[in-house]
Amino acid sequence: MSKTMDNQLQQEVDKRRTFAIISHPDAGKTTLTEKLLLFGGAIREAGTVKARKASKHATSDWMEIEKQRGISVTSSVMQFDYKGHRINILDTPGHQDFSEDTYRTLTAADSAVMLIDVAKGVEAQTIKLFQVCAKRGIPIFTFINKLDREGRSPFDLMEELEQVLGIRSVPMNWPIGTGRDLCGVYDRTLNQVELFQGDDHSTIQVQKVEDYNDPVIREMAGEFLHDQLCQDLELLDVAGDPFDMEKVQRGELTPVFFGSAINNFGVQTFLENFLKLAPKPEPRKSTAGLIEPTDEKFSGYIFKIQANMNPAHRDRIAFLRIVSGKFQRGMSVKHVRAGKEIKLSQPQQFLAQDRDIVQEAFPGDIIGLFDPGIFRIGDSLSQASEIVFDELPTFSPEIFAKVTVKNALKHKQYQKGIDQLTEEGTIQVFNTVSFDDTLLGVVGQLQFEVFEYRMKGEYGVDVQLQRMPYQFARWIIDDNIDPSKFRINSTLVKDKKGNYVVLFENEYAMRTAMEKNPTAKFLETAP
Ligand code: GDP
Repeated sequence: MSKTMDNQLQQEVDKRRTFAIISHPDAGKTTLTEKLLLFGGAIREAGTVKARKASKHATSDWMEIEKQRGISVTSSVMQFDYKGHRINILDTPGHQDFSEDTYRTLTAADSAVMLIDVAKGVEAQTIKLFQVCAKRGIPIFTFINKLDREGRSPFDLMEELEQVLGIRSVPMNWPIGTGRDLCGVYDRTLNQVELFQGDDHSTIQVQKVEDYNDPVIREMAGEFLHDQLCQDLELLDVAGDPFDMEKVQRGELTPVFFGSAINNFGVQTFLENFLKLAPKPEPRKSTAGLIEPTDEKFSGYIFKIQANMNPAHRDRIAFLRIVSGKFQRGMSVKHVRAGKEIKLSQPQQFLAQDRDIVQEAFPGDIIGLFDPGIFRIGDSLSQASEIVFDELPTFSPEIFAKVTVKNALKHKQYQKGIDQLTEEGTIQVFNTVSFDDTLLGVVGQLQFEVFEYRMKGEYGVDVQLQRMPYQFARWIIDDNIDPSKFRINSTLVKDKKGNYVVLFENEYAMRTAMEKNPTAKFLETAP
């Protein structure tokens, strides 16, 4: 490849940032996403993202369930440009009904933005998503939202980040007053005050200052709030963690920003700092070692498959994260698992609202490929023939149901459906050792609904799901497994590869089993 091509690739890699926003429903993810897209000019009016969320989406792109419920079932991707950067936001469904897809999407991100409601602090779904990010060791940036409302003290929230998530934090800015008294924030790196102005807080005044003791702040914010600010920041200077880029990169320290997404307050500062600190597209592990984004040969992996985006055509879209090289429409690549060349002729990119046809794309970008049924989650595509990226992680199911087919004559279709949907990662399947019942395991209730819907829609099979009381699955490795040991509040099953798995109804049962089988290993996911 020519030198100029190398340079282009390097430049395209350097300007990209690919991240996911993780939060609990209602923290303001839709609002923040929309403000970010507005900065980039990717959407013209506020309300566009929301309208999609509220299911006013006129076209029939989204799955039926998605329309019925007005939620985004599967995560999509939004791309925009800002000051020379190209930004990809991976959307994770903010709904309670999240699924394994939500987790998998995080593997396509190089960093995460954790959005927290100032009044509610760290909530359940945030914890789950955080843990997946923490396992990968990616940098996590925190945005504390709804500063215009009465909330918890910033120190309190920092303490909670450490206690609940085990991550230290370093505030990049600090509120001047809170709730109704909020008048702005102090930017600790730029030494400037950003003030809310006007009744609707719609304008923001930025003032450079010497440091936080600067009397100018006193004039602007009043004596009381300035004293408070000085006290807080002195304490932070003395007792707080200093900013440490390496710790941020390892995901051990999270830079914290305070703001209010709906008032567009603190969003731009956040974006600019984020772009400076967040990693550009990172290499990924493969059978051929680390694949660097600047490796000239195109490669990527599929982290998600969305079925039935257009019910009339029943087409599927496979989402591919580009790891290296340049993607060009119409190029031929090796589908490594299938062992054949395929032509990528109809790739799509997912912009704020419309699907566009992509001509070229670079590492960090996500493209959607039309899938006539040839892709599986975790598949690698590559110009260098034999690269296989580390398989995407599987997650420990937490919700279980026994599945039966209503019409026994449909058994063959039923089996085919289960096999395919398991391959695709829609559900995990287990067979009980004693009765040969089929159990399904998922991380989110929504996966069951998608399963039922697709079994009927694509395989013509009505299934019946009966919830089972299990909450934990542990893959057990032991020389001598005795099924009779797992009868009380638990059951022994096999996964589709024949590995033994124990399902437990509660933590107590799980701990007891571990104590009673000290030589056995209990793993959260398949070995
Ligand atoms: P999501 O569920 O995380 O996508 O949250 P949304 O963006 O839909 O926001 C949830 C609610 O919080 C909506 O009513 C928003 O208008 C509101 N909201 C978002 N940001 C702010 C903020 O900065 N201040 C206040 N007071 N409300 C906000």
